[in-house]
Amino acid sequence: MDKVQVHDKHFSLFIENKEIEKRISDLALKINNDLKDKNPLFLGILNGSFMFAGELFKNLNIPCGISFLKLASYEGTSSTGKIKRLIGLNEDIKGRTIVILEDIIDTGITIDNIVKQLKGYEPAEIKIATLLYKPEAYNDMYKIDYFCFDIPNDFIVGYGLDYNGYGRNLKHIYKISD
Ligand code: 5GP
Ligand code: MG
Repeated sequence: MDKVQVHDKHFSLFIENKEIEKRISDLALKINNDLKDKNPLFLGILNGSFMFAGELFKNLNIPCGISFLKLASYEGTSSTGKIKRLIGLNEDIKGRTIVILEDIIDTGITIDNIVKQLKGYEPAEIKIATLLYKPEAYNDMYKIDYFCFDIPNDFIVGYGLDYNGYGRNLKHIYKISD
């Protein structure tokens, strides 16, 4: 399938599943080597990261754990309006090596929010791993320790990423074409 329609928009094939899985297994090799003595806890950010997290985790062969978090939006009292609270953390992460798993880093606002909240639990270190990132949009606030693809500033769907709640089930990644 070279072209798909998701909700009311058209998308064209951008990265094939085979290539995605190859890059993720290469990344796993690197993480297996870098973090073998660290007993890391991987924290997948829902919903978008679930496929990336699952594929990466299958390829890890070091002692490690995984858990999933979500950013819940609610109306804050600040003048800026919406604040997103991180929910679902049940583990004690104090002193632990954390690896955040994101689907995509665009401007970096979301990852900044997550890192700031996680720091409050005093982990030993926080590393960032993302399937995709957009270097032209990213604010460079934190080093991205691990990524599979750097991509241009176009809207994409598939492999966990959605458009209006649809398209997460697509096995390839597609780029908007209209
Ligand atoms: P940031 O806060 O870094 O600007 O954006 C991060 C979030 O925006 C991602 O977790 C994702 O939910 C959404 N996002 C950014 N770019 C894209 C994209 O190209 N496609 C989709 N589906 N979501 C995106
Ligand atoms: Mg996301």
